[in-house]
Amino acid sequence: MTIYDDPHELARMVAAAPRPLMVGLDVDGVLSPLVDHAADATLLDGVADAVSALAELDSVRVAVVSGRSLDGLAQFGFGPDVEVIGSHGMEVRHRPMDPLDATESRRLAELDALAVDGAERAGEGAWIERKPASVVLHVRQADAVSGSAALDGLRVAAERIEGATAKSGSNVLELFARHADKGAMLMHLAREFRAATTVFVGDDVTDEDAFARLGANDIAIKVGDADTIAWHRLHDPAAVLTWLRALT
Ligand SMILES: [Mg+2]
Repeated sequence: MTIYDDPHELARMVAAAPRPLMVGLDVDGVLSPLVDHAADATLLDGVADAVSALAELDSVRVAVVSGRSLDGLAQFGFGPDVEVIGSHGMEVRHRPMDPLDATESRRLAELDALAVDGAERAGEGAWIERKPASVVLHVRQADAVSGSAALDGLRVAAERIEGATAKSGSNVLELFARHADKGAMLMHLAREFRAATTVFVGDDVTDEDAFARLGANDIAIKVGDADTIAWHRLHDPAAVLTWLRALT
């Protein structure tokens, strides 16, 4: 049985941690309930205000850190006090991303072609999401057997492309023409802010990259019951909202 932290107790613990405090928050599955189509996702009622209130506190900096592209994050309307990091750390709002070089562009085109094949194999309901340096195959709405087989096949095919990396999520596979890691950008911002404590809250496999970068004084919080290296857990986005409100 999975043991969850009490959001109020966890908020007291974070509030007592040494400042400055850097708080990184994944979005889908953490601030917004998971939905079949990313474009339909919305923040849980009250989350936008809670995140803004936290960001307005002295010696607290808040970053939302998502696998979505910055374009895909725009629908949430995060305010100017919040740092917005997209594409698993490759894009930061108001800071231009280095354009892909010729090798990366060629790699992205090859990965895109593989993803198109994969979507055909997965069949109806599968769809492709395109980001500045990666391509994602989504099979949540495809047939479970053909969808899962298509993801496996795509992973094997992508491994043959030199320099490419892949990340699995729930019913998705993302193929990268340039390496990306949520944790690297989070820790970069934490250093800029001279954070004494960094907190990261995430629900998916890719969030483990960020948990792995945290130090002994930092606080890793997993949302949901999936396997994790994090020491703390919250049940769902509603529990995250309770925690955010208690913290501010
Ligand atoms: Mg997530």
